[in-house]
Amino acid sequence: MERRTLFVDVLLPLNVPNYYTYRVPAGYNDVILSGQRVVVQFGQKKLYSALVRRVHENTPKDYIAKYFLSILDETPLISETQFLFWEWIARYYMCPVGSVMAVALPSGFRLASESMIVVHPDFDGEYSALNENEKIIVEALVRQHVLSVNEIEKITGLQKTFPLLKSMMDKNIISMEEELQLRYRPKEETYLSLHHHYKEGKNLEELFLELEKKTTTRKQVDALLFFLKYATEGEVKKSILLEDKSISLSALNTLVKKEVLLTVKKIESRLRDVAAPSSPDAIILNPEQTQAFETIISNWNEKKITLLHGVTSSGKTEIFIKLIEETLKQNKQVLYLMPEIALTAQIINRLRKYFGEKVGIYHSRFNINERSETWTKVQKGEENYKIILGARSAVFLPFADLGLIIVDEEHDTSYKQLDPAPRYHARDAAMYLAALYGAKTILASATPSVESYYNAQNGKYQLVELKKRFGGVLLPEIFVSDLKEATKKKEMKSHFSAFLLEHIKEALDDKEQVILFQNRRGFSLRLECDTCHWIPGCKHCDVSLVYHKGINMLRCHYCGYSIPVMDTCPACGTRSIKMKGFGTEKIEEELAIFFPNARIARMDLDTTRSKTSYMQIISDFEDRRIDILVGTQMITKGLDFDNVSIVGILNADNMLFFPDFRAFERSFQQMSQVSGRAGRKNKRGKVVIQTYNPYHQAIRDVIEYNFSGMFNSQLIERRVFKYPPFYRLIKISLRHKDDEYLNKAALYFASELKTTFGKRVLGPESPPVARVRNLFQKDILLKMEKELSPSAAKNKLTQILEAFIRHSDYCQIRYVIDVDPQ
Ligand code: ADP
Ligand code: ZN
Ligand code: ZN
Repeated sequence: MERRTLFVDVLLPLNVPNYYTYRVPAGYNDVILSGQRVVVQFGQKKLYSALVRRVHENTPKDYIAKYFLSILDETPLISETQFLFWEWIARYYMCPVGSVMAVALPSGFRLASESMIVVHPDFDGEYSALNENEKIIVEALVRQHVLSVNEIEKITGLQKTFPLLKSMMDKNIISMEEELQLRYRPKEETYLSLHHHYKEGKNLEELFLELEKKTTTRKQVDALLFFLKYATEGEVKKSILLEDKSISLSALNTLVKKEVLLTVKKIESRLRDVAAPSSPDAIILNPEQTQAFETIISNWNEKKITLLHGVTSSGKTEIFIKLIEETLKQNKQVLYLMPEIALTAQIINRLRKYFGEKVGIYHSRFNINERSETWTKVQKGEENYKIILGARSAVFLPFADLGLIIVDEEHDTSYKQLDPAPRYHARDAAMYLAALYGAKTILASATPSVESYYNAQNGKYQLVELKKRFGGVLLPEIFVSDLKEATKKKEMKSHFSAFLLEHIKEALDDKEQVILFQNRRGFSLRLECDTCHWIPGCKHCDVSLVYHKGINMLRCHYCGYSIPVMDTCPACGTRSIKMKGFGTEKIEEELAIFFPNARIARMDLDTTRSKTSYMQIISDFEDRRIDILVGTQMITKGLDFDNVSIVGILNADNMLFFPDFRAFERSFQQMSQVSGRAGRKNKRGKVVIQTYNPYHQAIRDVIEYNFSGMFNSQLIERRVFKYPPFYRLIKISLRHKDDEYLNKAALYFASELKTTFGKRVLGPESPPVARVRNLFQKDILLKMEKELSPSAAKNKLTQILEAFIRHSDYCQIRYVIDVDPQ
């Protein structure tokens, strides 16, 4: 019998460009499969779990392949489809497959010598169930809390522990440590219940008589009656009571103070409790929705990608639910992508109502154990992970049989990963993924991206539009508040026009909520010397420092460098340092002066450093513990609030005049999206846009809901100025700490590119912030006609780049490639 010598090409969990070849120890010939993990030695005595990409018989020519040491998985962890997907991402976004693996594969699967191991939080301490070696390892970990694989081997004297550790991980005895242990914080709800004294009819009656005596306590009688009306089993959520407009909050609070009503805070899991499908009413689509649904379904086989362009509140989600039902009937899986993790909390409840336990969530904030667990369940196609709701990284799950991908808010920039590589766009990657599975894709938005809409118009995607809100609710009425006028007429109070303030007041009087939107760009508090105009800047980056009241410090938004506030100007020595500009913090402060009784909160990068605080603010606003929410971009995203009657856009101009070819498109999207938060269900909302340019075309388009107007004018500009969708962009950023050296290198590189690409090369140019963390940056932009083969161009670019980096003069340059920069 012939003895075959087999080799495997493996992918290492390291930032190395290639596959590496190892030899298969003879005993493993019959069991080795692509997609399994094997233990290999790489470098000095370091062990890694590597993924087998290919099994073959080609002896490497220029080196002697080492044997791999052992196999970790009985069945492949990664399928051929996934490999193809990873490799496409690597090719398209021009990065090593290894970096795709780094985002794709939960780190729990990337066991290496230096991996830090801890006892699994769920381990029950049941030592008797462990075998000898497992016991030794657990005991070592209990004493030392955390140990690397290397240390474990040293301390226990055990060798070749990878398979053992892997099996202990599978059994939830141990797990890998991670720095970030962010978990969902459960949501806290206040419940009201009647003091047991008043549960006796007699006492309650007396109380009523007592309260009815005086006019000052009448409101408490009403509040109490409402409480009794709404309470089930003696208690009710405070938020539910407050939904009733006729109830007085202060009366309710007085009853609490008098201990007639008691408050209890209860933890409610946002994610799990809604599990039991609450036998929902079947969805009956209205005629417009029905038509949309049927168009999608009937053309599904020819047009695998649909762009669902539906105004806010048109009931896109209902259509998704119907499409999911169809997909589940075929026993296939559904991937539902959202741009932000925080948004999943709202949608998950709606989906669980229909699909119960079939809905799972996946995103990078879950911890290692949770992610590995989800991974395995999705791979097996388990019932409780038929529908996966996730942010960007969920495209990497090992779907057993994917039937449908929904990309909600497809225009959203959060779908693009900026750092580190792979700098992929999850929407675009999702379409490729769907093609690999023969699955369908729905891109949905009230304000589609110019690219997607263009593809839909050209027949590349199927276009389905919903133009009316569900139930005949009108789209909000949009007013422009002309800041030039208002200033002239002395109607400005700080940054608010009298017009906007009036509308806020009206809403508060009616117990309705208000959202104020302030674009992140442009407005923040800075210091400046009135005498010499010196501005405190960052030591490491070319930006001015931003004032933060909470910590009373000046801080760099790029690197975190911070210094205390000074009162003397270090440049001229005068004491004329003044505060300039205004940020969300300042707005919050000023509002408190105008509306002393309103409960005001702020949602921006500072208040939402952790995802849990983001969720807390959203749920406080949902439950009406906040009257006015001031925020940046974060509040524009597809959140549904029932009680918002006014949305104010504080300054439209700093969005419009941002130097970026997408500025109008983004302004239109942001303004329309934030407007869509006003008035849902039973009342028409209002939007006030404050601007110095009330007749600007982009503002007119927003007011008139003229998406196609915006689209058509953008299309003309994009064609003339050579931008997407007519051209593909690739941005190459070069970085170095020495400005001059970088300059020279960038000029040289650009000229090399020009020999091949000619006029398609733009730059080098300094980005708006030319230095970050002590590294200067120069950007070079490649603009390529759609008709050119992108892969040929990328190959050429790679060659030129590699030659450049090998060039002895420029080998210290760091570079970043961004394909389809946003
Ligand atoms: P979108 O996602 O387009 O913004 P939603 O799906 O959130 O819109 O729908 C807006 C509101 O209308 C929601 O409260 C939703 O429950 C309701 N709605 C939409 N379609 C229907 C329907 N066919 N039957 C009942 N309610 C619907
Ligand atoms: Zn000065
Ligand atoms: Zn800095």
